[in-house]
Amino acid sequence: MATTTSMTTQDYMKREEQYGAHNYHPLPVVLDKGEGIHVWDVEGRQYYDFLSSYSALNQGHNHPKIVNALKQQAEKLSLTSRAFYNSVLGEYEEFVTKYFGYDKVLPMNTGAEAVETAIKLGRKWAYKKKGVAENQAKIIVCENNFHGRTVTIVSMSIDPDARADYGPYTPGFVTIPYNDTEALEKELQDPNVAGFLVEPIQGEAGVNVPGEGYLKKAYDLCKKHNVLFMADEVQSGIARTGKLLACDHECVRPDVLILGKAISGGMYPVSAVLADDPVMLTIQPGEHGSTFGGNPIAAKVAIAALEIVQEEKLAENAERLGKIFRDEFKSIQSEMIAEVRGKGLLNAVVIKPKNGKTAWDVCVAMKEHGVLAKPTHGDIIRFAPPLVINEEQLREAMDKIKATFKEFE
Ligand SMILES: *Cc1c(COP(=O)(O)O)cnc(C)c1O
Repeated sequence: MATTTSMTTQDYMKREEQYGAHNYHPLPVVLDKGEGIHVWDVEGRQYYDFLSSYSALNQGHNHPKIVNALKQQAEKLSLTSRAFYNSVLGEYEEFVTKYFGYDKVLPMNTGAEAVETAIKLGRKWAYKKKGVAENQAKIIVCENNFHGRTVTIVSMSIDPDARADYGPYTPGFVTIPYNDTEALEKELQDPNVAGFLVEPIQGEAGVNVPGEGYLKKAYDLCKKHNVLFMADEVQSGIARTGKLLACDHECVRPDVLILGKAISGGMYPVSAVLADDPVMLTIQPGEHGSTFGGNPIAAKVAIAALEIVQEEKLAENAERLGKIFRDEFKSIQSEMIAEVRGKGLLNAVVIKPKNGKTAWDVCVAMKEHGVLAKPTHGDIIRFAPPLVINEEQLREAMDKIKATFKEFE
């Protein structure tokens, strides 16, 4: 099995099964190539990518502008560490802070690292600025959150799969129901609260869209109690929901903004935390960092990826096509469709199992029809195509999805 020329889908799957840890359960398709909104498997079959690597690929697969940025920088200078200055990092820092409207950025690589950074920043700010006593700072989080996979982050999770048997857990978190400002107000009475960490839309939980006004109300409550409003926009940000940030729908400007995934267009692990000086400058040299964070390739890739979002009006496209997607889906006559929800092109369909057929079976059948999506939390299918999709392509994919549901009638 050393050469890849004569291998079948089954051979590839078996090899991963044999040599890789079993921490994922992929759909049975082996991808070999991507371009724009499409991917191709090792047997040459073409698919619409309706997962976009959990919204990392908002700009589509292999966007030529991002590929070019990566290639050019890779040939010149890849990594300096932060022991030295480099000629690209400042350019990126100026670009990204002006782009999102913050004083400072702290560059990391993965979403989880950016969340960890935000937690450290919130705690540091609580001790240095708010006057919370040593080791007493608390961060309020929401039920059914997904913020990543580190020990501290799973300590904030209530998902048994994510959490069980990884203890002892990091203390200092208070969990409240999502979309519940009364519960938030109650916990905010505690003067040791440093921050409220929230996803503007809960992606992994199954695209839970909170009630209108929730984010604004939560933000105002945080302000009233001198608590940082920390938004995890790793999945909801970068035009996915029809605005640059999901918080923009309610004109909320987070005190701490956490970005990842599509900030690189899926080309490279890039994440970022943005905040203003009074918060960000509480971290001093040597107190936090990352060898790869803010490396020259990441910097150039992120600039290109963010320019594309504006140049190709991806937020506007997501807003317009999201409406068409939900309308089309709601028109499908199927007992299996219990609910269609979402914002922009971050949508989910709740599947009611029928004759033992579940969301997983629907996804496998959709794959046969040429559309790739993946169940999340059992009975929910998330639909999140690259934002470079056009109306004609969306309608063609919808036809394939409709044909799939017909099969289950
Ligand atoms: C994916 C995700 C993360 C974690 O990002 P990784 O790059 O996988 O570490 C954090 N928060 C949210 C909301 C996410 O969707």
